Amino acid sequence: MTHLMNTYNRLPVAFTHGKGACLYDEHGNEYLDALAGIAVNGVGHAHPKLTAALTDQVNRLIHTSNVYRVREQELLADRICQLSGMQEVFFGNSGSEANEAALKLVRMLGHKRGQPEAQTIVMERAWHGRTLATLAATGSDKARKGFEPFPTGFIQVPYNDIAAVKRIVDSDRRVLAVWLEVLQGEGGIYVADLDYVKALRRLCDERGLLLMIDEIQSGIGRTGKWFAHQWADIRPDVMTLAKGLGSGVPIGACVAAGAAVGVFGPGNHGTTFGGNPLAMRAGIETLAIIESDGLMANAVAQGSRIIEGIKRALNGVSGVVQVRGMGLMIGIELDRPCNELVRRALARGLLINVTHDTVIRLLPPLILSAEEALMIVDRLAPVIRTFLTAPLPASANLDNADQKAA
Ligand SMILES: *Cc1c(COP(=O)(O)O)cnc(C)c1O
Repeated sequence: MTHLMNTYNRLPVAFTHGKGACLYDEHGNEYLDALAGIAVNGVGHAHPKLTAALTDQVNRLIHTSNVYRVREQELLADRICQLSGMQEVFFGNSGSEANEAALKLVRMLGHKRGQPEAQTIVMERAWHGRTLATLAATGSDKARKGFEPFPTGFIQVPYNDIAAVKRIVDSDRRVLAVWLEVLQGEGGIYVADLDYVKALRRLCDERGLLLMIDEIQSGIGRTGKWFAHQWADIRPDVMTLAKGLGSGVPIGACVAAGAAVGVFGPGNHGTTFGGNPLAMRAGIETLAIIESDGLMANAVAQGSRIIEGIKRALNGVSGVVQVRGMGLMIGIELDRPCNELVRRALARGLLINVTHDTVIRLLPPLILSAEEALMIVDRLAPVIRTFLTAPLPASANLDNADQKAA
């Protein structure tokens, strides 16, 4: 028994340290990390350049507050705008907070335009966070259940369906924004067609709507571009970042361009911790490492190595629905719930995740070597094959065991 609130079904393992793409537990066992703290540890564990930068920063200054100028904030905002072609940034401490800022920006812009009832179109299976407003925009019944009533202002449509968005925009004059992930992460690694993303950009331009892209999981080099929407050669009006930006130091960013610029004034929005020198230094150093070490090209190379390897190893095995992804954001969809694969992989020294019940999700660090990519395939494919070809589902075996024990 611990004194922690019971919000997670935790795996029975605790890590003491890491190095690169590996983690080590309390008994000295080594694990290959194909989850990277849920797309957070892009530069791997204990990267020497990151460690040196953070040590230096801790020795100088951790926090002062937004009462004062924060030089590191200005530098990281410059860099993000340079990489995205966007114009201004608000820093918070998490993805949910970045998204809250984005939603408050839409509300405020609505009020300024005399549209206090402004609506945001959101997607089925979308994931935007756990605060009340971000949960209202999230398409997971499991996460939402028990937290009603939610803030209003959202209209949900099917993902990757431009006609569905057009129908709403044509029939509801209150719509002010369209919000999506270019690849849905928690929703099951569903990848939008780039033509759909381009068509959304055109539609938003024609109708004066904000195009908002949640890059919290897909951004910071994971798909092989700084931001996944750059594959579609477009620029959003609002982009949110978090996970990979700080390499594990809590951070979130709401980035604005075009009509979303200059919406907030002093006093409209804020945070105590957000944008502190430690988090900013983590962001600056993370972006520097990704660039100098060529990690985006590596994400593309190792991502295809994993996808090809898994396809080859599971060729002809029935029960594999699809292997898909971009760069090092990979989903292997099976035809049945497969949450127990997380434990089976753990027992073989591999850290993975299952999302949406049927999709094995791989989010390895961007520093992954070719050997490590092949090692992921070598450890994972047999686990999947055994699971899919076993005569009885393991849950039935467990039920039998329970009955015998009773
Ligand atoms: C993780 C995630 C969030 C929420 O971020 P938190 O830091 O957990 O609040 C929002 N959107 C997407 C796409 C995510 O993957």
